[in-house]
Amino acid sequence: MVSKTLIEKAREFHGHICPYVVLGLRASEIAMQRLNIKKASEAETVNEDIIAIVECNNCFADGVQVATGCTFGNNGLIYMDTGKNAVTLVRRRDWKGIRVYVDSEKMKKRYFSEEASRLFEKVIARREGTSEDQERLRKLWNEIGFALRDAPEEIFKIEEVKISPVERAPIFETVKCDLCGELVMKTRAKVVNGKTLCQTCAGSCNAVVGRGIVLDFKTPFEKRL
Ligand SMILES: [Zn+2]
Ligand SMILES: [Zn+2]
Repeated sequence: MVSKTLIEKAREFHGHICPYVVLGLRASEIAMQRLNIKKASEAETVNEDIIAIVECNNCFADGVQVATGCTFGNNGLIYMDTGKNAVTLVRRRDWKGIRVYVDSEKMKKRYFSEEASRLFEKVIARREGTSEDQERLRKLWNEIGFALRDAPEEIFKIEEVKISPVERAPIFETVKCDLCGELVMKTRAKVVNGKTLCQTCAGSCNAVVGRGIVLDFKTPFEKRL
């Protein structure tokens, strides 16, 4: 059962309570219990001893970060762009992991009212909701989120997995961009016409945006003011 304290931490981090942020908390809790580990501590976050592999960049991924302590910034979080609501929690010590996948069909059947599904379509999917619709959906999202605190294992697929070793984040050499003068990881710099350029100056880089990983994403800084 996800504690109310954890829900409040998730609200603070994610900005709101919704079904998938709570599912992220609950799925992490199930995986942590099965692996017999707690939220990554100071030493573990520094050493990347525990890794969470998420397969989507949505509300669920924020729940995972709050519950496990494996975050984007401490390199405990690995993002696999498969587009599924799933988390695999892994111990580096023995590369044993637990993967928890949310069966959204089963979950919605149990927790989403007809009104919630309809409003989701209108407000989130089509972005056509009025301010009343948005307010009503916010309320429903809170209710469903709280109801999902003790979501039963039947709405998930839970499996034990053996993971092949994943590298720790390396420290790279730094070079200076010949155009903007900013320091940049050597592995990210490009050589164009004999000049060393950062990818911002070169015009594109890989990026994680709403729809997932985009290769060769055009850098969006139109002008530096
Ligand atoms: Zn959310
Ligand atoms: Zn530059």
